[in-house]
Amino acid sequence: MTNDLLFTGGEVWLGPGRRSTALAVSAGRISAIGPDAEADGATTVVDLAGGLLLPAFSDGHCHPTQAGLEMFGPAIAGLTSVEAILAEVARYAAEHPELDWIVGGTYDPALVAGGSFHAAWLDEIVPDRPVLLKATDHHTIWCNSAALRLAGVDADTPDPDTGMIDRFEDGAPVGTLREPSAYLLVEQFAPEPSLETKAEALKLACQAQAAVGLTWMQDAWVEEGGHLPYLALVDRGELSIRSNLGWLLVPERWRDQLSVIVAQRAEVEAAGAPQLLTGNAVKFFADGVIESGTAEMLEPYDDSHHHGMPVWDPDELAAAVTAIDALGFQAHLHAIGDAAVKHSLDAIEQAIRTNPEWDRRPVITHVQIAEAADLQRFADLNVTAAMQTYWAQRDPLMEMLTAPRLGPERTDRQYQVATMVTLGVPLSIASDWPVSTNSPIEAITVAATRQTHDGLPEGGWMPEERLPLEEGLLAATAGGAYQGFTEGFRGRLEVGLSADLVWLDRDITTGEPIRAREAIVKGTWLDGVQTHQG
Ligand SMILES: [Zn+2]
Repeated sequence: MTNDLLFTGGEVWLGPGRRSTALAVSAGRISAIGPDAEADGATTVVDLAGGLLLPAFSDGHCHPTQAGLEMFGPAIAGLTSVEAILAEVARYAAEHPELDWIVGGTYDPALVAGGSFHAAWLDEIVPDRPVLLKATDHHTIWCNSAALRLAGVDADTPDPDTGMIDRFEDGAPVGTLREPSAYLLVEQFAPEPSLETKAEALKLACQAQAAVGLTWMQDAWVEEGGHLPYLALVDRGELSIRSNLGWLLVPERWRDQLSVIVAQRAEVEAAGAPQLLTGNAVKFFADGVIESGTAEMLEPYDDSHHHGMPVWDPDELAAAVTAIDALGFQAHLHAIGDAAVKHSLDAIEQAIRTNPEWDRRPVITHVQIAEAADLQRFADLNVTAAMQTYWAQRDPLMEMLTAPRLGPERTDRQYQVATMVTLGVPLSIASDWPVSTNSPIEAITVAATRQTHDGLPEGGWMPEERLPLEEGLLAATAGGAYQGFTEGFRGRLEVGLSADLVWLDRDITTGEPIRAREAIVKGTWLDGVQTHQG
């Protein structure tokens, strides 16, 4: 028998401390590993050139359509000053006189004290048309006066229950709105991109995900109709990342949404590509983010008397999680503050107690801060922690917006990833892209070092919580496969499984962990078909 593909000339990673020298692929599946692979020969030989072959990665939480759409707007992501952002918005606005609105993302909220950006700054460059920019946290927008006027947001507009309008002393809006209930006051008037535009954005996003070595992702915010771009790409044979959709339920109308998500899941199943597209998760926002003071905390923030802002009443959250669990959906909860984590675990516990036993695999993502007893509950309840380990560093966001709100004791209790692994918590690696980089290798590098790009602080922040690099690889491969119910056909290198593979140009497990991020993705394969060439 001759194989289709043979990978040789480097290291084949079978798990922490386990290696081989060759891997063969036949008809989309791994057909042999080690000397057997080489003995049978192959039509195409890939010389790994001293690099590392791994199972392709999984992203446990991201927003691909949003990420793709942001590639179309003004290119403000990563800009390091307000002036640079304004210059780019001005350039884009001038280049697009046909647009009624200028919409884009994402700006770094840490560029301005308290993250409070002024409408007047945008007015100077675009006075006549509405401008709406999203912050990297995706919980905050910055807009100009034309947008505020069109939306009727002024000094007399009350703050919604679960959102905030930044104001001057006289009550007039500054131009920054926090949390969906507040920013939707403006965003609801922005034109909705067409289905074709969204499908095109999703296709670009899939290419970007393949370029960082992914073959599976959890879309963690799918609103009504948000599955249609996926169905369009499946139809055209252009969905190049396996995707699980997480339908967003909101407290105001979750009971009415149940029949909608059941129907949309059926539409996804009718596409008939169960290893490519599933609609099995339901997303809940238990709270907001610490940077905006909207994450729900057990104790008040250090800089105010607030405990933050639960999005759900705890009993309603438990009722909703129990209801979707009974319908065979996997719960996927955004929980950042320690109180939100507790309420999320309570909700999952109620679903487990109420409903018949099944393989439910609930997920809580972010888990920025949690009580020790609650970390243990993740293990006891078999809740996967989908962790944005890239955030476990003392970057400007942490220094300027997070640490002052948490105070020193809580600041040094964030992202206890190594503790979770020790406790036996199922762990996956997640990006929250486009909130931050989609690269799992970046996330694993930070997990292993807990240092900034400059290598600070020396020895790492909370060094006892560093996650050994190969444990990070395991979370990004087998851990993500388990989260997504795909471990039966991918996530490990084993004969008979799908050839979902990523080839790195170097062995990142042997050098300095901080240098792991220098690795280049030379190739990604899904079912043995190359989806990226580096
Ligand atoms: Zn997210």
